[in-house]
Amino acid sequence: MTTVDLSIVGRIVSGIGEPFRGEIRISAGRIVELREGEPAGPCTTRIDLKDAYLLPGAIDCHVHSGSHAGEGIRALTSSAAAGGVTTVIDMPYDVAAPVVSPLVLAAKRDKVTAEALIDVALLATVRPGSGDADVGPLVDAGAVGFKLSLFGTDPRRFPRIPDDQFLEVLAAIRDHGSVACVHAENEEIIKPLMARAIESGASSPLDHCRSRPPVSETQAVLTALEYARDTGSTLHLCHLSLARSVDLARSYAREGLQVSTETCPHYLWFSEDDMERQGGRLKINPPLRPASERAGLWERLLGGAIDAVSSDHAPWPLSDKTRPAIFDNHSGAPGTETLVSVLAAGLLAPGESLAVLSQLVAAGPARIFGIAEAKGSLAPGMDADVMAFDPGKPFILDEADLHSNAGWSPYHAMTMPGRVVLTVSRGEVVWDGTHFGGSKGRARVVERARGATQHD
Ligand SMILES: [Zn+2]
Repeated sequence: MTTVDLSIVGRIVSGIGEPFRGEIRISAGRIVELREGEPAGPCTTRIDLKDAYLLPGAIDCHVHSGSHAGEGIRALTSSAAAGGVTTVIDMPYDVAAPVVSPLVLAAKRDKVTAEALIDVALLATVRPGSGDADVGPLVDAGAVGFKLSLFGTDPRRFPRIPDDQFLEVLAAIRDHGSVACVHAENEEIIKPLMARAIESGASSPLDHCRSRPPVSETQAVLTALEYARDTGSTLHLCHLSLARSVDLARSYAREGLQVSTETCPHYLWFSEDDMERQGGRLKINPPLRPASERAGLWERLLGGAIDAVSSDHAPWPLSDKTRPAIFDNHSGAPGTETLVSVLAAGLLAPGESLAVLSQLVAAGPARIFGIAEAKGSLAPGMDADVMAFDPGKPFILDEADLHSNAGWSPYHAMTMPGRVVLTVSRGEVVWDGTHFGGSKGRARVVERARGATQHD
Protein backbone atom coordinates (compact mmCIF):
# COMPACT_ATOMS: atom_id res chain seq x y z
CA MET A 1 0.00 0.00 0.00
CA THR A 2 1.37 3.42 -0.91
CA THR A 3 2.01 6.05 1.76
CA VAL A 4 -0.59 8.83 1.78
CA ASP A 5 -0.29 12.42 3.08
CA LEU A 6 -3.09 12.21 5.61
CA SER A 7 -5.25 9.57 7.25
CA ILE A 8 -8.32 10.64 9.24
CA VAL A 9 -9.80 7.98 11.52
CA GLY A 10 -13.30 7.92 12.96
CA ARG A 11 -16.85 6.80 12.21
CA ILE A 12 -17.33 7.42 8.50
CA VAL A 13 -20.72 8.64 7.28
CA SER A 14 -20.74 7.92 3.56
CA GLY A 15 -23.89 7.88 1.43
CA ILE A 16 -27.07 6.83 3.20
CA GLY A 17 -25.67 3.67 4.85
CA GLU A 18 -24.80 3.14 8.51
CA PRO A 19 -21.62 4.86 9.78
CA PHE A 20 -18.61 2.54 10.01
CA ARG A 21 -15.29 2.85 11.82
CA GLY A 22 -12.49 3.35 9.36
CA GLU A 23 -10.03 5.79 7.82
CA ILE A 24 -10.21 8.31 5.03
CA ARG A 25 -6.91 8.22 3.12
CA ILE A 26 -5.91 11.45 1.43
CA SER A 27 -3.11 12.51 -0.93
CA ALA A 28 -2.52 15.67 -2.96
CA GLY A 29 -5.80 17.17 -1.76
CA ARG A 30 -7.98 14.28 -2.89
CA ILE A 31 -9.54 11.25 -1.28
CA VAL A 32 -7.60 8.14 -2.29
CA GLU A 33 -9.52 5.50 -0.38
CA LEU A 34 -12.05 4.83 2.39
CA ARG A 35 -10.91 1.84 4.46
CA GLU A 36 -13.11 0.00 6.94
CA GLY A 37 -11.66 -1.28 10.22
CA GLU A 38 -8.69 -0.23 12.32
CA PRO A 39 -6.25 2.09 10.50
CA ALA A 40 -3.39 0.16 8.98
CA GLY A 41 -2.16 1.90 5.84
CA PRO A 42 1.08 3.94 5.84
CA CYS A 43 0.67 7.70 6.01
CA THR A 44 2.65 10.86 6.76
CA THR A 45 0.11 12.17 9.29
CA ARG A 46 -2.68 10.31 11.09
CA ILE A 47 -5.50 12.05 13.00
CA ASP A 48 -7.50 9.56 15.09
CA LEU A 49 -10.77 11.13 16.21
CA LYS A 50 -12.10 7.94 17.90
CA ASP A 51 -15.92 8.06 17.92
CA ALA A 52 -16.35 11.34 16.06
CA TYR A 53 -18.36 11.14 12.85
CA LEU A 54 -16.48 11.89 9.63
CA LEU A 55 -18.71 13.53 7.07
CA PRO A 56 -18.29 15.29 3.74
CA GLY A 57 -17.39 18.94 4.39
CA ALA A 58 -20.59 20.96 4.42
CA ILE A 59 -21.58 23.13 1.46
CA ASP A 60 -23.43 26.17 2.81
CA CYS A 61 -25.31 27.08 -0.36
CA HIS A 62 -26.67 30.45 0.76
CA VAL A 63 -24.41 33.03 2.43
CA HIS A 64 -24.01 36.80 2.13
CA SER A 65 -20.36 37.77 2.62
CA GLY A 66 -20.78 41.27 1.25
CA SER A 67 -24.23 42.48 2.31
CA HIS A 68 -22.56 44.31 5.21
CA ALA A 69 -19.12 45.85 4.72
CA GLY A 70 -18.04 44.68 8.18
CA GLU A 71 -17.98 40.98 7.23
CA GLY A 72 -16.17 40.13 3.98
CA ILE A 73 -14.73 36.92 2.56
CA ARG A 74 -12.08 36.28 5.23
CA ALA A 75 -14.36 36.49 8.28
CA LEU A 76 -17.17 34.63 6.57
CA THR A 77 -15.04 31.72 5.35
CA SER A 78 -13.29 31.45 8.74
CA SER A 79 -16.62 31.32 10.55
CA ALA A 80 -17.85 28.72 8.05
CA ALA A 81 -14.72 26.57 8.44
CA ALA A 82 -15.12 26.55 12.24
CA GLY A 83 -18.60 25.15 11.65
CA GLY A 84 -17.51 22.27 9.40
CA VAL A 85 -18.24 24.07 6.13
CA THR A 86 -15.71 23.56 3.31
CA THR A 87 -17.53 25.36 0.48
CA VAL A 88 -19.81 28.38 0.58
CA ILE A 89 -22.00 29.58 -2.26
CA ASP A 90 -21.98 33.35 -1.98
CA MET A 91 -24.87 35.61 -2.89
CA PRO A 92 -24.33 38.43 -5.40
CA TYR A 93 -25.96 41.22 -3.33
CA ASP A 94 -22.73 42.90 -2.24
CA VAL A 95 -23.03 46.41 -0.88
CA ALA A 96 -19.80 47.44 -2.64
CA ALA A 97 -20.97 46.27 -6.08
CA PRO A 98 -23.67 43.69 -6.83
CA VAL A 99 -22.34 40.90 -9.09
CA VAL A 100 -24.07 41.88 -12.35
CA SER A 101 -21.18 41.80 -14.84
CA PRO A 102 -18.14 39.66 -15.67
CA LEU A 103 -15.95 42.55 -14.49
CA VAL A 104 -17.47 42.59 -10.99
CA LEU A 105 -17.37 38.78 -10.90
CA ALA A 106 -13.67 38.80 -11.81
CA ALA A 107 -12.94 41.30 -9.01
CA LYS A 108 -14.81 39.12 -6.52
CA ARG A 109 -12.93 36.05 -7.76
CA ASP A 110 -9.63 37.85 -7.01
CA LYS A 111 -10.88 38.66 -3.53
CA VAL A 112 -11.75 35.00 -2.91
CA THR A 113 -8.36 33.70 -4.04
CA ALA A 114 -6.59 36.36 -1.96
CA GLU A 115 -8.62 36.08 1.25
CA ALA A 116 -10.78 32.98 1.55
CA LEU A 117 -9.91 30.12 3.89
CA ILE A 118 -12.18 27.59 2.14
CA ASP A 119 -13.51 27.21 -1.40
CA VAL A 120 -16.20 29.58 -2.63
CA ALA A 121 -18.68 29.40 -5.50
CA LEU A 122 -20.13 32.67 -6.78
CA LEU A 123 -23.69 33.51 -7.75
CA ALA A 124 -24.46 36.37 -10.12
CA THR A 125 -27.60 38.43 -10.68
CA VAL A 126 -28.93 40.91 -13.25
CA ARG A 127 -29.81 44.60 -13.11
CA PRO A 128 -33.53 45.38 -13.43
CA GLY A 129 -34.21 46.55 -16.98
CA SER A 130 -30.95 45.14 -18.39
CA GLY A 131 -32.60 42.20 -20.15
CA ASP A 132 -30.76 38.88 -20.39
CA ALA A 133 -27.59 40.00 -22.19
CA ASP A 134 -25.28 39.49 -19.21
CA VAL A 135 -26.33 35.89 -18.45
CA GLY A 136 -24.04 34.14 -20.98
CA PRO A 137 -20.95 36.23 -20.19
CA LEU A 138 -21.50 35.70 -16.43
CA VAL A 139 -21.75 31.91 -16.94
CA ASP A 140 -18.52 32.03 -18.98
CA ALA A 141 -16.89 34.08 -16.21
CA GLY A 142 -17.61 31.28 -13.73
CA ALA A 143 -20.94 32.08 -12.04
CA VAL A 144 -22.30 28.86 -10.54
CA GLY A 145 -25.91 30.11 -10.86
CA PHE A 146 -28.11 33.21 -10.69
CA LYS A 147 -30.02 34.75 -7.82
CA LEU A 148 -33.26 36.47 -8.77
CA SER A 149 -35.67 38.12 -6.36
CA LEU A 150 -39.40 38.66 -6.72
CA PHE A 151 -39.21 41.10 -3.79
CA GLY A 152 -37.21 44.33 -3.78
CA THR A 153 -35.22 44.48 -0.54
CA ASP A 154 -32.93 47.30 -1.69
CA PRO A 155 -33.29 49.04 -5.07
CA ARG A 156 -29.57 48.91 -5.87
CA ARG A 157 -28.14 45.97 -3.91
CA PHE A 158 -31.08 43.53 -3.81
CA PRO A 159 -33.72 44.62 -6.38
CA ARG A 160 -36.87 42.97 -7.61
CA ILE A 161 -36.61 41.68 -11.17
CA PRO A 162 -39.76 42.63 -13.13
CA ASP A 163 -41.78 39.66 -14.41
CA ASP A 164 -41.10 40.20 -18.15
CA GLN A 165 -37.34 40.29 -17.55
CA PHE A 166 -37.63 37.38 -15.13
CA LEU A 167 -38.98 35.24 -18.00
CA GLU A 168 -36.24 36.39 -20.42
CA VAL A 169 -33.51 35.71 -17.88
CA LEU A 170 -34.90 32.25 -17.07
CA ALA A 171 -34.78 31.35 -20.77
CA ALA A 172 -31.16 32.53 -20.98
CA ILE A 173 -30.28 30.54 -17.84
CA ARG A 174 -31.78 27.46 -19.51
CA ASP A 175 -29.80 28.07 -22.72
CA HIS A 176 -26.56 28.33 -20.75
CA GLY A 177 -27.20 25.27 -18.58
CA SER A 178 -27.27 27.20 -15.31
CA VAL A 179 -29.72 27.40 -12.38
CA ALA A 180 -32.06 30.18 -11.23
CA CYS A 181 -32.16 30.60 -7.43
CA VAL A 182 -35.25 32.51 -6.45
CA HIS A 183 -36.19 34.59 -3.42
CA ALA A 184 -39.95 33.98 -3.49
CA GLU A 185 -41.97 36.68 -1.76
CA ASN A 186 -44.72 38.74 -3.42
CA GLU A 187 -44.02 42.45 -3.36
CA GLU A 188 -47.58 43.57 -4.19
CA ILE A 189 -48.87 41.87 -1.05
CA ILE A 190 -46.06 42.78 1.35
CA LYS A 191 -45.21 46.40 0.59
CA PRO A 192 -48.73 47.81 1.20
CA LEU A 193 -49.07 45.72 4.38
CA MET A 194 -45.73 47.07 5.62
CA ALA A 195 -46.66 50.65 4.73
CA ARG A 196 -50.01 50.34 6.52
CA ALA A 197 -48.37 48.81 9.61
CA ILE A 198 -45.78 51.59 9.83
CA GLU A 199 -48.43 54.27 9.28
CA SER A 200 -50.59 52.89 12.09
CA GLY A 201 -47.62 52.77 14.46
CA ALA A 202 -47.41 48.96 14.56
CA SER A 203 -43.83 48.14 15.51
CA SER A 204 -43.78 44.87 17.50
CA PRO A 205 -41.72 41.87 16.34
CA LEU A 206 -44.87 40.00 15.29
CA ASP A 207 -45.91 42.90 13.06
CA HIS A 208 -43.03 41.86 10.80
CA CYS A 209 -44.54 38.36 10.46
CA ARG A 210 -48.03 39.79 9.86
CA SER A 211 -46.76 42.02 7.05
CA ARG A 212 -45.47 38.94 5.18
CA PRO A 213 -48.33 36.42 5.43
CA PRO A 214 -47.92 32.83 4.17
CA VAL A 215 -49.71 33.56 0.89
CA SER A 216 -47.06 36.18 0.04
CA GLU A 217 -44.56 33.30 -0.09
CA THR A 218 -46.70 30.58 -1.67
CA GLN A 219 -47.99 32.93 -4.39
CA ALA A 220 -44.41 33.92 -5.32
CA VAL A 221 -43.33 30.27 -5.23
CA LEU A 222 -46.10 29.51 -7.73
CA THR A 223 -44.99 32.40 -9.94
CA ALA A 224 -41.42 31.09 -10.01
CA LEU A 225 -42.63 27.53 -10.69
CA GLU A 226 -44.89 28.62 -13.55
CA TYR A 227 -42.16 30.77 -15.12
CA ALA A 228 -39.62 27.95 -14.84
CA ARG A 229 -42.12 25.49 -16.30
CA ASP A 230 -42.91 27.85 -19.18
CA THR A 231 -39.25 28.41 -20.02
CA GLY A 232 -38.01 24.91 -19.18
CA SER A 233 -35.30 26.26 -16.93
CA THR A 234 -33.86 24.72 -13.78
CA LEU A 235 -35.15 26.33 -10.60
CA HIS A 236 -33.87 26.39 -7.02
CA LEU A 237 -36.27 27.80 -4.41
CA CYS A 238 -34.28 29.51 -1.64
CA HIS A 239 -35.10 29.58 2.07
CA LEU A 240 -38.64 28.17 2.05
CA SER A 241 -40.44 28.75 5.36
CA LEU A 242 -43.69 26.88 4.67
CA ALA A 243 -44.62 23.23 4.18
CA ARG A 244 -47.01 24.25 1.39
CA SER A 245 -44.15 25.87 -0.56
CA VAL A 246 -42.30 22.54 -0.49
CA ASP A 247 -45.46 20.67 -1.55
CA LEU A 248 -45.99 23.02 -4.51
CA ALA A 249 -42.41 22.44 -5.66
CA ARG A 250 -42.82 18.64 -5.36
CA SER A 251 -45.99 18.70 -7.46
CA TYR A 252 -44.16 20.56 -10.26
CA ALA A 253 -41.23 18.16 -9.92
CA ARG A 254 -43.66 15.26 -10.51
CA GLU A 255 -44.63 17.00 -13.78
CA GLY A 256 -40.97 16.88 -14.77
CA LEU A 257 -39.76 20.35 -13.77
CA GLN A 258 -36.16 20.42 -12.54
CA VAL A 259 -36.79 22.13 -9.22
CA SER A 260 -34.98 21.91 -5.89
CA THR A 261 -35.94 23.20 -2.45
CA GLU A 262 -34.00 24.78 0.40
CA THR A 263 -34.90 25.66 3.96
CA CYS A 264 -32.82 27.06 6.83
CA PRO A 265 -32.11 26.11 10.45
CA HIS A 266 -34.07 29.12 11.74
CA TYR A 267 -37.31 27.81 10.20
CA LEU A 268 -36.57 24.35 11.64
CA TRP A 269 -35.60 25.56 15.12
CA PHE A 270 -37.59 28.73 15.84
CA SER A 271 -41.18 29.87 15.46
CA GLU A 272 -43.06 33.17 15.83
CA ASP A 273 -42.95 32.68 19.63
CA ASP A 274 -39.15 33.07 19.55
CA MET A 275 -39.59 36.21 17.45
CA GLU A 276 -41.46 37.71 20.39
CA ARG A 277 -38.59 36.78 22.72
CA GLN A 278 -35.65 37.78 20.51
CA GLY A 279 -37.24 40.68 18.64
CA GLY A 280 -35.25 42.21 15.79
CA ARG A 281 -32.51 39.58 16.08
CA LEU A 282 -34.90 37.09 14.50
CA LYS A 283 -36.27 39.47 11.88
CA ILE A 284 -35.70 37.41 8.74
CA ASN A 285 -37.28 37.29 5.26
CA PRO A 286 -39.41 35.23 4.83
CA PRO A 287 -40.39 35.57 8.50
CA LEU A 288 -40.58 32.91 11.20
CA ARG A 289 -43.91 31.08 11.15
CA PRO A 290 -46.23 29.39 13.67
CA ALA A 291 -44.87 26.22 15.29
CA SER A 292 -47.17 24.04 13.13
CA GLU A 293 -45.17 25.10 10.05
CA ARG A 294 -41.91 24.12 11.74
CA ALA A 295 -43.35 20.62 12.30
CA GLY A 296 -44.49 20.49 8.67
CA LEU A 297 -41.01 21.37 7.42
CA TRP A 298 -39.39 18.65 9.59
CA GLU A 299 -41.86 16.10 8.26
CA ARG A 300 -40.97 16.99 4.67
CA LEU A 301 -37.26 17.14 5.42
CA LEU A 302 -37.27 13.64 6.90
CA GLY A 303 -39.46 12.44 4.02
CA GLY A 304 -36.82 13.54 1.49
CA ALA A 305 -38.86 16.40 0.00
CA ILE A 306 -36.27 19.07 0.88
CA ASP A 307 -32.98 19.06 -1.05
CA ALA A 308 -30.81 21.46 0.92
CA VAL A 309 -30.49 23.28 4.23
CA SER A 310 -28.51 26.54 4.11
CA SER A 311 -27.72 29.17 6.72
CA ASP A 312 -28.72 32.28 4.72
CA HIS A 313 -25.87 33.82 6.74
CA ALA A 314 -26.54 37.56 6.88
CA PRO A 315 -23.89 39.15 9.12
CA TRP A 316 -25.65 42.32 10.31
CA PRO A 317 -24.13 43.75 13.49
CA LEU A 318 -26.45 43.95 16.52
CA SER A 319 -26.82 47.71 16.04
CA ASP A 320 -28.79 46.91 12.85
CA LYS A 321 -30.94 44.30 14.65
CA THR A 322 -31.96 45.85 17.95
CA ARG A 323 -33.76 49.08 17.11
CA PRO A 324 -37.03 49.41 19.06
CA ALA A 325 -39.33 49.54 16.00
CA ILE A 326 -39.18 46.18 14.18
CA PHE A 327 -39.38 47.70 10.69
CA ASP A 328 -36.23 49.78 11.34
CA ASN A 329 -34.07 46.65 11.61
CA HIS A 330 -32.33 44.73 8.84
CA SER A 331 -33.55 41.25 7.93
CA GLY A 332 -31.38 38.15 8.32
CA ALA A 333 -29.07 36.63 10.92
CA PRO A 334 -25.56 35.13 10.99
CA GLY A 335 -25.57 31.31 10.89
CA THR A 336 -22.91 29.59 8.79
CA GLU A 337 -20.90 28.51 11.87
CA THR A 338 -23.99 26.99 13.54
CA LEU A 339 -25.57 25.40 10.43
CA VAL A 340 -24.24 21.88 11.05
CA SER A 341 -24.69 21.92 14.84
CA VAL A 342 -28.29 23.17 14.81
CA LEU A 343 -29.29 20.68 12.11
CA ALA A 344 -27.52 17.91 14.04
CA ALA A 345 -29.44 18.94 17.18
CA GLY A 346 -32.73 18.56 15.34
CA LEU A 347 -31.77 15.19 13.83
CA LEU A 348 -29.99 13.49 16.74
CA ALA A 349 -32.67 14.23 19.36
CA PRO A 350 -35.28 11.97 17.66
CA GLY A 351 -32.55 9.43 16.78
CA GLU A 352 -32.15 10.23 13.09
CA SER A 353 -28.86 9.51 11.34
CA LEU A 354 -26.31 12.14 10.40
CA ALA A 355 -26.45 10.60 6.92
CA VAL A 356 -29.56 12.78 6.48
CA LEU A 357 -27.49 15.82 7.44
CA SER A 358 -24.83 14.98 4.90
CA GLN A 359 -27.47 14.73 2.15
CA LEU A 360 -28.89 18.16 3.08
CA VAL A 361 -25.70 20.14 3.57
CA ALA A 362 -23.35 18.35 1.15
CA ALA A 363 -24.71 15.98 -1.51
CA GLY A 364 -27.87 18.02 -2.17
CA PRO A 365 -26.21 21.41 -2.63
CA ALA A 366 -23.42 19.84 -4.75
CA ARG A 367 -26.00 18.38 -7.13
CA ILE A 368 -28.10 21.57 -7.30
CA PHE A 369 -25.11 23.75 -8.19
CA GLY A 370 -23.39 21.33 -10.56
CA ILE A 371 -20.28 20.84 -8.42
CA ALA A 372 -20.83 17.18 -7.44
CA GLU A 373 -17.88 15.99 -9.55
CA ALA A 374 -15.50 17.26 -6.86
CA LYS A 375 -17.59 18.23 -3.83
CA GLY A 376 -20.28 16.91 -1.51
CA SER A 377 -19.41 13.27 -0.90
CA LEU A 378 -16.71 11.04 0.52
CA ALA A 379 -15.42 8.87 -2.33
CA PRO A 380 -12.10 8.17 -4.06
CA GLY A 381 -11.19 10.96 -6.48
CA MET A 382 -13.27 13.62 -4.74
CA ASP A 383 -11.73 16.74 -3.20
CA ALA A 384 -10.65 15.83 0.34
CA ASP A 385 -13.22 18.11 2.02
CA VAL A 386 -14.01 16.48 5.34
CA MET A 387 -15.54 17.54 8.63
CA ALA A 388 -15.57 15.71 11.93
CA PHE A 389 -18.48 16.09 14.32
CA ASP A 390 -17.95 14.72 17.83
CA PRO A 391 -21.23 13.85 19.61
CA GLY A 392 -19.20 13.21 22.77
CA LYS A 393 -18.58 16.96 23.17
CA PRO A 394 -21.90 18.75 23.71
CA PHE A 395 -21.61 22.37 24.82
CA ILE A 396 -23.59 25.52 25.46
CA LEU A 397 -23.09 28.01 22.64
CA ASP A 398 -21.63 31.37 23.59
CA GLU A 399 -22.07 33.84 20.76
CA ALA A 400 -18.82 35.55 21.82
CA ASP A 401 -16.91 32.43 20.67
CA LEU A 402 -18.10 32.64 17.05
CA HIS A 403 -15.88 33.97 14.27
CA SER A 404 -18.20 36.04 12.09
CA ASN A 405 -17.73 39.78 12.53
CA ALA A 406 -21.46 40.00 13.25
CA GLY A 407 -20.53 39.13 16.85
CA TRP A 408 -23.82 37.51 17.92
CA SER A 409 -26.06 34.51 17.24
CA PRO A 410 -29.78 33.79 17.59
CA TYR A 411 -28.67 30.39 18.97
CA HIS A 412 -26.79 31.96 21.91
CA ALA A 413 -27.12 29.78 25.06
CA MET A 414 -28.47 26.80 23.07
CA THR A 415 -27.08 23.38 24.03
CA MET A 416 -25.28 22.02 20.96
CA PRO A 417 -25.30 18.21 20.62
CA GLY A 418 -21.62 17.99 19.73
CA ARG A 419 -18.70 19.92 18.35
CA VAL A 420 -17.04 20.27 14.95
CA VAL A 421 -13.56 19.09 15.96
CA LEU A 422 -11.91 19.09 12.53
CA THR A 423 -12.42 20.72 9.13
CA VAL A 424 -10.23 19.64 6.22
CA SER A 425 -10.32 21.51 2.91
CA ARG A 426 -8.67 19.71 -0.04
CA GLY A 427 -6.49 17.74 2.35
CA GLU A 428 -5.42 20.68 4.50
CA VAL A 429 -6.55 21.15 8.11
CA VAL A 430 -8.24 24.57 8.20
CA TRP A 431 -9.85 24.10 11.66
CA ASP A 432 -8.65 21.71 14.36
CA GLY A 433 -11.48 22.37 16.79
CA THR A 434 -9.67 25.26 18.44
CA HIS A 435 -7.43 26.98 15.89
CA PHE A 436 -7.43 27.82 12.21
CA GLY A 437 -4.83 26.40 9.85
CA GLY A 438 -4.19 26.94 6.15
CA SER A 439 -2.64 29.99 4.58
CA LYS A 440 -4.25 32.97 2.87
CA GLY A 441 -4.39 32.42 -0.86
CA ARG A 442 -5.18 28.68 -0.60
CA ALA A 443 -8.85 28.90 -1.63
CA ARG A 444 -10.34 28.25 -5.04
CA VAL A 445 -13.40 29.50 -6.85
CA VAL A 446 -15.54 26.44 -7.55
CA GLU A 447 -17.23 26.31 -10.93
CA ARG A 448 -20.17 24.35 -12.29
CA ALA A 449 -19.23 21.30 -14.36
CA ARG A 450 -20.31 21.84 -17.95
CA GLY A 451 -23.53 19.99 -18.74
CA ALA A 452 -24.26 19.12 -15.08
CA THR A 453 -27.96 18.93 -14.23
CA GLN A 454 -29.84 18.41 -10.99
CA HIS A 455 -30.51 14.82 -12.02
CA ASP A 456 -26.85 13.84 -12.30
ZN1 LIG B 1 -30.31 35.31 1.52
